[in-house]
Amino acid sequence: NYETERVRKDGKRLYVSLTISPIKDAAGAIRGASAIARDITDRKRAEERIRYLAQHDSLTGLPNRNLFRDRIGQVIVHARRAREQVAVLFLDLDGFKQINDSLGHQIGDRLLRMAARRLQGCLREGDTVARLGGDEFILSLPGLADSNDAILISNKILEALREPFLIEQHELHLTGSIGISLYPADGEDVETLLRAADTAMYHAKEKGRDNYQFFTAHLNDAARRRLNIANRLHRALENNEFSLYYQPEIHLGSGRVFAAEALVRWRRPELGLIAPNEFIKVAEETGLIVPLGEWALREAAGQLRQWHDAGFPDLRMTVNLSPQQLRRPGFVELVKAVLQENRLSPTSLDLEITEGILMAHSQENLHFLQQLSDVGVRLVVDDFGVGYSSLGYLQRFPIHALKIDQSFVNGVGLDPNDTALVTAIIAIAHSLNLEVVAEGVESEEQATFLRAHGCEAAQGFYYSQPISAEAFIELLRTRTFSTSPASGVSV
Ligand code: C2E
Ligand code: MG
Ligand code: MG
Repeated sequence: NYETERVRKDGKRLYVSLTISPIKDAAGAIRGASAIARDITDRKRAEERIRYLAQHDSLTGLPNRNLFRDRIGQVIVHARRAREQVAVLFLDLDGFKQINDSLGHQIGDRLLRMAARRLQGCLREGDTVARLGGDEFILSLPGLADSNDAILISNKILEALREPFLIEQHELHLTGSIGISLYPADGEDVETLLRAADTAMYHAKEKGRDNYQFFTAHLNDAARRRLNIANRLHRALENNEFSLYYQPEIHLGSGRVFAAEALVRWRRPELGLIAPNEFIKVAEETGLIVPLGEWALREAAGQLRQWHDAGFPDLRMTVNLSPQQLRRPGFVELVKAVLQENRLSPTSLDLEITEGILMAHSQENLHFLQQLSDVGVRLVVDDFGVGYSSLGYLQRFPIHALKIDQSFVNGVGLDPNDTALVTAIIAIAHSLNLEVVAEGVESEEQATFLRAHGCEAAQGFYYSQPISAEAFIELLRTRTFSTSPASGVSV
């Protein structure tokens, strides 16, 4: 006995219930079978209708709370496996009640249906919008790369609602207040996420409606700032808003400044100087790091030419590279061209790469690094130690120096772990014929410790903050650093 779907000769789809029974002869042996098919299409359609009604809001046709719960349950299971974020949005229409009360339910209902359609228009595939009842809607946005996606969609929704609604002779204005919660940060189950989004929605109401708020206030600010940055970043290059600051690198033995590390700064008209930690990651995500990095390389090389001409021909320049730049075809040629255009020897350029490039273990990265090294520039591993890369395989890369991350340098002489780690890094680096630079040196004690342990070079606020090009040449001309603070001998 079973139910199945069949197609009739005329093409019509039917649901049938089939009952098959054996036909036996007098001796009881099975001789055949009889099948009775009953058309149960009407009953099936009714069942489907009932299921649909149980899962949808009859006014707008959107999923209702039950279906939403089902779907988001599945979405969370998937997100947990894929380690993705999911946003839950709680939307409440501002000003709906007044319209409904003054113009009547019929108009109110039409308005809700139109609003629902606009909401659907804002979604990506896989997103769900459901009506919770009244003028409340809930949305689930799975597969978010980061919380910016939730902001983008929230903005789209707010914008869509702001468009006036034309119903009969009325031009009606609505806005929305949206609360956003994120899986897994704000909760791991539907109930918790909905409650968090609901709370956040009340914050949005308090903030004057027609806006969105994240459940986590901190994230709220951070996320908004990031989006703001992403939006403006691509303009910033054209508008010449970037500049380079330079931090001296000091040879610990002689106390001489032997290099400048170029550190990018973003001068924003209203916001002042922005440090790279705020925008490099966004630049990498948006791909802008490639033109920005090329700009920095050219700018730094031009600057070095000027300093060579100004009487410091041995000064070297250190430029930070993002992994994305390295993988770009033509990068090696770019480096060569920039050196040539500025009549610089390759040995006057140090390129800093991240541990991540080495840890990727890729043959490709090794190939690019080899090509760069063949050009004659020196390769330095920046922020060394934070990536837990094994020192052993540094051997396989054409690396010239390690720059010990400032978090370890910080604790040198104070924290036994940091002290042991820094001492070990220096020793192993030397056994691999690598030079060691310590970054983030802030005190005389740290400098003394590092020198005593054979660290070649240092950089940090103890010597100088990153400074403008003008200030840097001033520093080259006037400042000398003592070899040993105690002896007072200056170079
Ligand atoms: P980094 O290359 O490790 O640069 C060192 C950072 O530590 C700089 O931060 C510097 O200002 C800071 N610093 C130096 N001495 C001290 C000290 O004694 N104490 C403390 N607390 N900090 C110190 P900054 O300039 O904010 O740059 C941050 C990071 O941004 C850089 O880290 C680098 O990874 C990245 N970056 C900067 N410019 C560029 C660029 O042109 N391209 C790329 N791809 N990344 C860049
Ligand atoms: Mg660096
Ligand atoms: Mg560093």
